[in-house]
This record gives sequence, C-alpha cells and structure tokens, in this order.
Amino acid sequence: MNNPSSVATAPAPALPATGTEDLNPFHIAQQQFDKACLYIPEIKAGLIEYLKRPDRLITVEFPIETEDGDVRTFVGYRCLHNRVRGPGKGGIRFHPDVSADEVRALASWMTWKCAVVGVPFGGAKGGVVCEPKTLTKKDLRRITRRFVVDLGDAIGPYIDVPAPDVNTNGETMAWIYDTYQMVHAGKNNLPVVTGKPVDLGGSLGRREATARGCLFSAQRALASGLVDGMSSVEGATVVIQGFGNAGSIAAELFAEAGARIIAISDSRAAVMDPSGIDPAAAVAHKQETGSVGGLAGTTPISATELLATQCDILIPAALENQIHGGNVDSIQARFIIEAANGPTTPTADRALFARGIHVLPDILANSGGVTVSYFEWLQNIENEQWDLVEVNGKLERYMTRATDAVLKRQQEINGSLDALTEQRAKRGLPKVELKRADLRTAAYVRAITRVATVALERGIWP
Ligand code: NAD
Repeated sequence: MNNPSSVATAPAPALPATGTEDLNPFHIAQQQFDKACLYIPEIKAGLIEYLKRPDRLITVEFPIETEDGDVRTFVGYRCLHNRVRGPGKGGIRFHPDVSADEVRALASWMTWKCAVVGVPFGGAKGGVVCEPKTLTKKDLRRITRRFVVDLGDAIGPYIDVPAPDVNTNGETMAWIYDTYQMVHAGKNNLPVVTGKPVDLGGSLGRREATARGCLFSAQRALASGLVDGMSSVEGATVVIQGFGNAGSIAAELFAEAGARIIAISDSRAAVMDPSGIDPAAAVAHKQETGSVGGLAGTTPISATELLATQCDILIPAALENQIHGGNVDSIQARFIIEAANGPTTPTADRALFARGIHVLPDILANSGGVTVSYFEWLQNIENEQWDLVEVNGKLERYMTRATDAVLKRQQEINGSLDALTEQRAKRGLPKVELKRADLRTAAYVRAITRVATVALERGIWP
C-alpha cells in the first residue's frame, strides 16, 4: 500500500452557520440520522454512535505537472463510512467545493442508500478539490491516475469500489480501472470501479440508471397515491436543476414518460419554456456550447427563479443545500424528487413537510445509480454482459421494492407514534415529542435498522 495519510475519524468540526442554518453537509447527515434514531428505540446507544461516524477518511496530497507547464498540488479524499453490509461503494467527485465533511456526508448517505435499495455494499465517497473547467483532459487524467495510485489498496473490488459523480464520467472510470490494473496486474480487476464504458466492462443502462431509478421510484410513489391528484408523471410539469448525467437523462426519461419539462439549469444558466423544452435539443445545445443558456425557444431566468417556478415536480440534480431555510417558502412544486445527494436541508425538509409537499429522498430516489453499479460489479465478476432489458427490468424491481418498503415504513411509524413514545420511556430514553415522520426519516429508519441488524448478526469484532 502506498501509505496514504490516514486521518482518524473525529467529530465533525463546527463550521459557521449561514444565517441560523448550519449548511455543513456532514452535520446535516448526522441530524438526519439522529432524527431517524428517535423512531428506533430498540437500537443500543453505542451502536448508534458507531453507525453515525465514518470508519475512516483518507486524505492525500499530490503534485501534478499541468499542461500549461505549472506544477500544482491537489488534495483528494476517500471516506469509507461503513462496510457492515459489504464493500464500500460510492462516487468520486471533482469539484472546487469538495471537502472532508462533504465526502463524509456523501459516504454516509451511500451506506443508507445501499441499505434502502438492498444492494450488498457499504458506503464510501471520494473527491478531488479541483475546478475541471480550468483543466485539460490530460490534466484530469493525470489527477485521476495519481489519486488512484495514492489511494493504493484502500480501494479494490472487495474493499471499496468507486463510481462516477459530479464532473466524472465513464472516461474517468476507465482511467481508474487502467491505473488500478497497472499496479495489480494478473487478476480480473474490472470490478474495482463501476460506471465504466460499456466496451470496457461497463453495464448497459448504467449511464441512465440514476435518472431511470428516479422515474421508477416516482411512478411507484405516485401510483400509490402519495400526491393528491397526481397518479403518474404523465402530463406533469417538471423543473430540473442541474443538467449533467442525472439531470439531463431525467429530462429525457420523464419527457418520454409524458411529462413536460418547463425549466432546466446548469452551473452557468437557467432557462424556461412553459410550452415544453425538448431534452434532446437541450443536450445537443449543451454539448455544443457548454451550457443550456441560449437554448432556442427558451427565456433566460435566474437560478432563484428556476427553483421558485410553479410546477408539479421539481428535480434537484446538481449539488447539496439547494433548497434551504432561505428559499423554501418560494418553492411552488407539489412533489420533489432528489436526483442529487443532499439538495434539501433539514430546515427546508420541515417546512416542506408542514406544507404537505412530499420529498422523495435522495437515499431512495437516486439509488438506481448504485443499483446498476452493483449489476455491473456482478457482471464483471462473472465476465458476463446482461442485455438492457434484463438490467432495466431488475432495476425496476429493486426500485419498486424499495419505494414500497419506504412508503410502508412511513405508515407504520406514523401509525405507532404513541407506542414508540412508550417504548422510549420504558428504555429510559430522553422524552421527546415524536412528530409524524417524512419519507426521508422513514427511509433512514429502514436503512439504519438493516445495517444495525447485520452488525449484530455478524457480532462486533473481536
Ligand atoms: P454531473 O457533473 O454530470 O452534472 C452536474 C450538473 O449540475 C452539471 O450540469 C452542472 O453544470 C450542474 N450544476 C452544478 N452546480 C449547479 C448549480 N449551482 N445550479 C445549477 N446547476 C448546477 O453530475 P451528476 O453525476 O449528474 O451528479 C449530480 C448529482 O446527482 C450529485 O448530487 C450526485 O451526487 C448525484 N448522483 C449522481 C449519480 C450518478 O450516477 N452520476 C448517482 C446518484 C446521485
């Protein structure tokens, strides 16, 4: 192993709050976790403390000679939150705002997501602090290779398996595979990373999986009567924030399913067309110009206006903390589907729930990505290639099962608030007023219960 500087997990440092709201993603993940634990009185306090914190966080710092002739130092992180249910799994992000706490939060969400959807992985996440817009492809390849070599045996097919995330894609995953293969030659290393190009062991349907999973989950929730008067996405007006892998493909798939995409945005622009945006034209325009701005037939709007647009469905598909205490009152959507990880803060969650606006939470809604990553991992181990119908059929079964389970769990919790309060009292737990649980809390309860059960079945080592 290449001796990365391993930093022991410490309680998250306090970051300044924005207004009255603490926007540190790891603090938010911990608040969500704590809230869910109120509804699981049977779990031992010590186990809760363990599950709340990441197993490890690796920090690496390395130099790269960039194509402009400069030498620059980059910082990269890989956090393994929990491996109770299987190897670590989670994307690698390239973004200037990557931080230790962001990676910790994203890794913990992966643990709960894998448990919600039922794939046998734990949670992990990584990132490199960089601005890809100012780097060449060669720079990014060097950064990727050096990051992977510095992580050494901290990643591996049965240890921790990366995947794409913000500003990384199939090409980046191919570089990760190639680098790992160079230093671990002589065995089948394809399952070390997922989201690879299809001709390099990638799975058919992986590129679309996150968005397709969102659609499957949303359709199931709507068909179950979650949102009054909306039994399907057909005919629904949809606003999408973020037009990358998750957002642009969600636009295509929701439009195919009969929805009308009325506004989209990326990091540079937001545009609107109430009569409906053609997703294929938007993808072509973004490929040509680098942004959705200036798309023919659309009107420019601000990022704030985009989120406040009246619509049936809002799909945040960009970054964390987009819907927060400061803008939640302006939200006019009837249903929010979190394609992104962590787009809604706890303050916004409470306000939306009070207004009857349901949020299909990230750890359920966007779990299609990791589900098809799991299918890719299986195919790589077996040296098989499943056809697309098989992949999508299995994905639909996983998403449907998980959505049903979360909806059912929410009903169970909300139908037994008095019994849960009594159980808490019997166990001598602090007195709290248990409020009706939202879908995020129900999803967490399902996930935490699953991971805790397996932790105890295995027995705490040694
Ligand atoms: P991506 O890099 O392909 O796309 C990100 C998009 O968001 C880009 O269009 C970018 O311009 C836009 N964006 C960035 N900042 C923005 C802002 N402030 N306002 C509006 N748009 C902004 O990344 P992705 O893979 O699509 O990931 C998007 C989100 O989905 C992330 O939260 C990621 O963790 C989550 N996610 C992705 C996957 C996956 O398989 N790719 C799986 C699960 C969850």
